[in-house]
Order: sequence, then structure tokens, then C-alpha cells
Amino acid sequence: MATDNSIEIYCPSCHWEPDGGAHWQCRCGHVWDTFETAGTCPQCRYRWRVTTCPSQPGGCGVTSPHIDWYHGLEALVAELVEEALHAPAAIGCPPA
Ligand SMILES: [Zn+2]
Ligand SMILES: [Zn+2]
Repeated sequence: MATDNSIEIYCPSCHWEPDGGAHWQCRCGHVWDTFETAGTCPQCRYRWRVTTCPSQPGGCGVTSPHIDWYHGLEALVAELVEEALHAPAAIGCPPA
């Protein structure tokens, strides 16, 4: 089960939210939902670092870094860092 409920995915430019459809085409010709694989083509395994907002289902057509589509990551990371800082020192330290 996903524990990342605080993460939202939408276009950093126009806030269009992926609707679960296969709107992205890889250079190998495969068409799939890039957010299901975090930007990796399931056919040729090419890792896309950028994602274009598809104009067909209502997006703006702007290409942005894939990571920029995820919102709430900073909060999640900050939370993890906070937890680590408050953990007893002995737990975080490697054996001497
Ligand atoms: Zn591909
Ligand atoms: Zn957009």
C-alpha cells in the first residue's frame, strides 16, 4: 500500500492532473501512462527525465522535468529528516 498520500501529481505549468490514460509516447513508439512507471518506458526501459503535458486530454503542451510533476515531496522529505533528527542517537549510528 502506498504511504505517499500527501504527494499530488499535476503539471507544474497548468496544474493539469494525469487522468490515468496512456498519453505519452516513447522514442521507441510505445504509448503508455508515464506516471505509472515514474517516467520509465515499460518497453525499452528508457528513463524519461522530462514529461510533456499532453494537450489532447486538456494539458498545456509544456515539457517539464518529470520530478516537477510531483508535489508534496518536499514536505515528505522534511518529515523524514525531522523524524531522523528526533530519533535516539544510538539508533542512527553505525556500530563503532
Ligand atoms: Zn520506449
Ligand atoms: Zn500543463
